[in-house]
Amino acid sequence: MSIFEKAFGPSMDIQNFINGAFVAPVNKLKFDNINPATASVICTVPDSDEMDVEMAIDAATAAFPSWQKTSNEERFRILHAISTGIMDNLDKFAMAESLDTGKPVSLAKTVDIPRSAQNFEFFATAIMHFASESHEMQDVAINYTLRKPLGVVACISPWNLPLYLFSWKIAPALAAGNCVVAKPSEVTPLTAYLLGEICQKAGLPNGVLNILHGFGHKVGAAIIAHPKIKAISFTGGTSTGKTIASIAAPQFKKLSLELGGKNPNIIFADAEWDKAMETTLLSSFRNQGQICLCGSRILIESSIYEKFKEEFVAKVANLKVGNPMDGTTNVGAVVSKNHYHKILDCIELAKSEGGKILIGGHPLKMDGDCEQGYFIAPTVIEGLPQNCKTNTEEIFGPVVTLQPFENEAEAISIANGTNYGLSATVWTSDLKKAHRMANNLEAGIVWINTWMLRDLRTPFGGVKQSGVGREGGWEAMRFFTDAKNVVIKY
Ligand code: NAD
Repeated sequence: MSIFEKAFGPSMDIQNFINGAFVAPVNKLKFDNINPATASVICTVPDSDEMDVEMAIDAATAAFPSWQKTSNEERFRILHAISTGIMDNLDKFAMAESLDTGKPVSLAKTVDIPRSAQNFEFFATAIMHFASESHEMQDVAINYTLRKPLGVVACISPWNLPLYLFSWKIAPALAAGNCVVAKPSEVTPLTAYLLGEICQKAGLPNGVLNILHGFGHKVGAAIIAHPKIKAISFTGGTSTGKTIASIAAPQFKKLSLELGGKNPNIIFADAEWDKAMETTLLSSFRNQGQICLCGSRILIESSIYEKFKEEFVAKVANLKVGNPMDGTTNVGAVVSKNHYHKILDCIELAKSEGGKILIGGHPLKMDGDCEQGYFIAPTVIEGLPQNCKTNTEEIFGPVVTLQPFENEAEAISIANGTNYGLSATVWTSDLKKAHRMANNLEAGIVWINTWMLRDLRTPFGGVKQSGVGREGGWEAMRFFTDAKNVVIKY
C-alpha cells in the first residue's frame, strides 16, 4: 500500500470545486499527479478548459450579490472556521503537501500548513478592522471613501508553497466580499482540493469560492482572459507574469503580480557569526531552495570570505537529503522531473561559465521508496562573475553562489546587479550600515539579521521584474476593493 493510500484511502481523482460541489471537468480529460520523491502517480487531476471556467464564473457571478452584502461578522466567522478546519486536519494537509511537492513533511507541518491557516485567520480579523478614510475640507465639505468589493476575481498560484500562497490570495479576496475563481499549480493540486472540503464544512456559500485544476496555458489562460474577471492576483514566474499582463492590461483588469527573484544574502565581517551561518543555511536550502525569498546569491565581505566558505560548505555537507516522510530530513525532492532537469542544466551552465563546484553539483540516488525520486545534492558554487547567467537568472533549486565584496558600495552594486528585486538579507552589527543598506538595496523586502520573518500586516512584493503591486495587510484589502470618494458639501 502506498503512503498516499495509507493516509487517504484508495487512490482518488481530484475534481474541480464549482458552486459548492465537486465536479469532473466537462471534457472528462485528466492527467497524472506525480509524487516527485518516488516518481509514482498520486492521483489524477482535471485537465480543465474554458467550459469549466464558464461554469465557475457563472457560479461566482450568481453568488456575488449576496456575498458582498454578507456582514463582516459573518465573513469573519466563515474564514475563521476555514482556518480552524485546516488546523484540525494538520496532519492530512501536511502529508498531502509533502507528497505533492517533495518537501519534508516536517516543514509542511510546521510552516506551510500553519501559515495557510494563519492567512485565513488574519484576513478574517482584517475585515473586522478594515476602515476607510475621510478628508475634511474645512468649513466647506467632507469627503469619505467607500471601499467596494470588485466582483469576481482570479487567484492563480505556483507550486512551491502551494496552500500557503493560494490562501494568501483567496483569504483577502473573500474577506473583502469578492467571489473567487482560483487555480493552484497543475504540479501541486492536492491541498487546494482538500481546501474545498473545508470550505463546504465551514459554511462558505456555494459559488463564493470556485477552484479549477489544470494547466496554465489552458484553464489559467481562459480564467485571466475572461471579461467578467475584474482583478487577477498572480504569483509565479516572471515570463508568465509578462504574458498575463499583456492579456489583462488591455482589458483594464486590476493586476497584482508576485514574480521571480535572485535575492542577495549579504554578510559583513561584523555579522553575528553563528546566527548568520545557521540562517544562511536555511535561506539557501529550505524547501530545496524553491522559495521565492531564498538567498541564492551569498555575498561575503572579503576579509571573512575563506573562513565563511569553509564552515558553510562543512555545514552543507551535514544536511540530510532524503525521504520527505522522514522527520529528520532537511532537504527533500525537487518538485518535478522537468524542474529537476532544469536545475541540473543550470549547474552545467554554471560550470561552463567558469564556476567551481565546492559541494554538490549532481543528482542523488536514494534507496527504497525514493529510488526513482528527483533529488539534487545541495550545491555551492564560487568563482563566477556577477554578470553571468548563473548570477543573474533564477534557478529556483538547491543551488547557491558565493561572491566576495570589498566594501558597502561594492556589495550594493553586486546586490542590485540583476533585473530582479524581491528580497535581500543583510548581516551586520552596525546599525547605521544596516540602515544605509536597507535604503540602497533595490528590493521589496529587506531583512536585517534575520530571514523569512513575516508580519502579515506588512506590504509584500517586489520591484523591477519581481513584480507589480503589493500583497499583505491593508495592501491586499485595498487591492481587492475599489475606492469610491463621496463629497458632501456642508
Ligand atoms: P509559473 O509561472 O509556471 O506558474 C504559476 C501559475 O500560473 C500556475 O498555476 C500555472 O498553471 C499558471 N499559469 C501558467 N501559465 C499561465 C497563463 N498563460 N495564464 C494563466 N495562468 C498561467 O510558475 P511556477 O513554476 O509554478 O512557480 C515558480 C515561480 O514562481 C518562480 O519564478 C518563483 O520565483 C515564483 N514565485 C514568486 C513568489 C513571490 O511572492 N514573488 C512566490 C513564490 C513563487
